[in-house]
This record gives sequence, structure tokens and C-alpha cells, in this order.
Amino acid sequence: MIDLHSHSNVSDGLFSPAELVEHAANHGVRMLALTDHDDIGGLAAAQQAAIEHGIRLVNGVEISVTWKKRTLHIVGLNINPEDVPLINGLAEVKKNRLERARQMALGLEKVGIYGSFEAASVLANQSILTRMHFARFLVEHNHAKDAKSVFKKFLVKGKPGFVDHQWMSLEAALGLITASGGTPVLAHPGRYDLGRTSMLLLLEEFRSLGGVAIEVVTGSHTAAQYVEYAKYSQMFGLKASQGSDYHGKGISFMEMGRLPALPSNCIPVWHDWTEIQSVITS
Ligand code: AMP
Ligand code: MN
Ligand code: MN
Ligand code: MN
Repeated sequence: MIDLHSHSNVSDGLFSPAELVEHAANHGVRMLALTDHDDIGGLAAAQQAAIEHGIRLVNGVEISVTWKKRTLHIVGLNINPEDVPLINGLAEVKKNRLERARQMALGLEKVGIYGSFEAASVLANQSILTRMHFARFLVEHNHAKDAKSVFKKFLVKGKPGFVDHQWMSLEAALGLITASGGTPVLAHPGRYDLGRTSMLLLLEEFRSLGGVAIEVVTGSHTAAQYVEYAKYSQMFGLKASQGSDYHGKGISFMEMGRLPALPSNCIPVWHDWTEIQSVITS
């Protein structure tokens, strides 16, 4: 009933913010965070829809970060959507995404795939351009059978549509989230393919820069990873978060409303949120 990670078509989800909130409410979610990639433009409409559907909407964002040449995602929960430094920081990331998308299209042209920038732009419909939009174009044109294989074939390191990109620094992202009153959460740590030594280093650095929680239960973790990251959260004194990372039918790891409970040795990130009481008791 608590889902703190989801996407609308303001980034690479399929539903509009209002549709996403309605979908969440229909699937038993009582508290939802909208966490679009590098963009908070959907929060106002989502808040409005949350009032209509009687659920709580947590203002969120998922910021792309480069840490030691790897891309990480940092979720900010309860950020202030009016915060000027945050708005400016995200605008900068958005501008760079456009240039990156042009380069991705040039890479695809080298293997004979034309028009991907234009097609991805149409799919994105003024929202930020992500690899997911390129993936949808490539699948629609039968260059791969589904999103999973299209990423493998075209959109990851060493493949024609991949562009090595410099995102925000970890320090800057944590600083922006914290300064706007938000809580920084390390998204889906199990997806970064880090060895134990690097994971320990990341968690240490994340915590020392003001990180507060890590996602333990997410649509992209296995059951074994729930246990593994619950241990890490305990080890580092970091709270635990949970979220489906829902993007829409066919492009999600998990449907909404299906998240298992956090392992009992975790302190939930919402532990000291006052609004949670009304969600639990009503
Ligand atoms: P970007 O931020 O433009 O690099 O796009 C990354 C987005 O693509 C992620 O947020 C996911 O929604 C999606 N994505 C990345 N890797 C994969 C994958 N292997 N399979 C399916 N979707 C993926
Ligand atoms: Mn995404
Ligand atoms: Mn992510
Ligand atoms: Mn996400």
C-alpha cells in the first residue's frame, strides 16, 4: 500500500501523472511517490489527482548521477517542487539529455537505423528524452523483440546507441535534494552490478554525503536481494525504502500494489513521517 518509486509520461512512463495516480489507487496503493527522471513537472497534476482519489502523493524525483564512471539513480522523497536550485539543476540535466539523444541517434545511424531521434521525440512528446523512448522506437520497428533485448542489443555500453554521459555528481544530487527539504534514497542498489567492495564504498560515501535510505524492496530486486540490502541498510544505519519503479504496462518490472513488506530488520524511510499515521489508520 506504500509505493515510493514510479514514473509518468513526464519522463519515461506511459501514463500521464493523473492516470498514474488513478492506476495506483485502483491497485490498492494508499501512498504513492511520483519520481520521474530528472523532472518534477508532473507533481502538481499528480497532487490534484491524489486528492480526487483519496490517496497521499509524495513529491519525488529520480536524479541521474555519475559516480566513478557509473550511472546511479538517487530518488528524492518529499522534495519541494518550488525550490529554485532544484528546478535549475534539473533544467541543466534536461538540456544535456537532448544533446545526448542526438548523439545516440548518430550512433544508431552507423548501423543503418535512421530517424530514431525524431521518432523518440514524438514518443517523448515534449518530456525528457530517455533510452526508454529509443527502446520503444526500436521495438516498434522490429529491431528487437522487447524492451529487455533492445537494451542489450543497442542501448548499453559498447552498443551502437549508447553514449557515455556525464550526469550530475552524487554530491550535487544529494545536496539539491537535502537543501529542498527532501530525503535522498539510493534507488535499486542491486542493479548497479557492483562488487561487495565497491558497494561498501558507495554506501559509505552516500551516507557521509547526507544519504538517508536505500531501496530494499524494489521491482528490480530479487527476493534474495531484499534480504541482502536489508542487511546493508542495517549495517550502515540507513533507512529502507520500497517502490515498484512502475513505468506502465509491458515496460515495468512489476505491477503496482504487489510489493512485499520490508524485511522486519529494516527501519522504513517513512518511520518518522507524520502523514503516514493517517494512511495507516484510515
Ligand atoms: P536513461 O535515463 O535515458 O539512461 O534511460 C534509462 C531508463 O531506461 C531507465 O530508467 C529504465 O526505465 C530503462 N532501462 C534501462 N535499462 C533497461 C533494461 N535493461 N531493460 C529495460 N529498461 C531499461
Ligand atoms: Mn525509467
Ligand atoms: Mn532508476
Ligand atoms: Mn525509476
